[in-house]
This record gives sequence, structure tokens and C-alpha cells, in this order.
Amino acid sequence: MRIQIDSEKCQGHNRCYALAPQLFDVDDYGAALVLNDGIVPAGLEDTARLAIANCPEYAISEVASEVASEVASEVASEVASEVASEVAS
Ligand code: SF4
Repeated sequence: MRIQIDSEKCQGHNRCYALAPQLFDVDDYGAALVLNDGIVPAGLEDTARLAIANCPEYAISEVASEVASEVASEVASEVASEVASEVAS
């Protein structure tokens, strides 16, 4: 599991850091940062989800795995091509 913070949305409430100091840090301006490049160590997935759920700005999100993204993109491409061929016939 990997998480990220949208710095445009983060307002520095620091709830994430209070809930999960193992996963977040705060910079000199109060903005939150993910530790370990956002990679959540095994066993801390629920803590990460708790932080995601408690961010009032919806600034924290889980990064879709590269494999999941590739599969989704391939499926979308196949569906688009099937629809296009049905419309053409
Ligand atoms: S709880 Fe959300 S808005 Fe607040 S510091 Fe953490 S990421 Fe930023």
C-alpha cells in the first residue's frame, strides 16, 4: 500500500501526524509530508486508512498500484475498442 498527500489540498491540521506519526511528518510551515516515499509498512495499513478517513480536506489518498493501473488501462482500451467496433457495424 502506498499513500500520497495532495499539497494543494492540505491545510495543515496535522490530524494525520497525530494519528500516525509512523507515516507522516510535518514541515516548518505545518504542511504534512508522507514518510518513506508514501510506502506503508506492513501492519500499518489500517492506520493509513484511518488517517485517510480523518483528513478533513480529503488530501490523503491511496496510490493505485502500477499493476492495477495497467490492468485498468488495458480493460478500458479493450472496452473502448469493442464499443467502437459495435457502433461501426
Ligand atoms: S490531516 Fe489532511 S489537511 Fe491536515 S495536515 Fe494531514 S494531510 Fe494535511
